[in-house]
Amino acid sequence: MGCIGKVENEKIVNLMGVPKRKTSKMRLRTRKAANRWKAPKLSKCPQCGAAQPGHIACPACGYYNKRQVLTIGAE
Ligand SMILES: [Zn+2]
Repeated sequence: MGCIGKVENEKIVNLMGVPKRKTSKMRLRTRKAANRWKAPKLSKCPQCGAAQPGHIACPACGYYNKRQVLTIGAE
């Protein structure tokens, strides 16, 4: 017998919300897949052709939006 409950009119009344059905493997895995970590998609830099993640200045040539925004290799 479950231990979470109380006796009311000689019946055990469940106080907790209890799932009606067992979650199937497919349903659980589908839900968990939405939060799974995925490697960032790499795109090619239009300036130098190096692979780079989107929406950042290219780490190889320093270009972003057809414009030099980083100075690479200058100390
Ligand atoms: Zn580049």
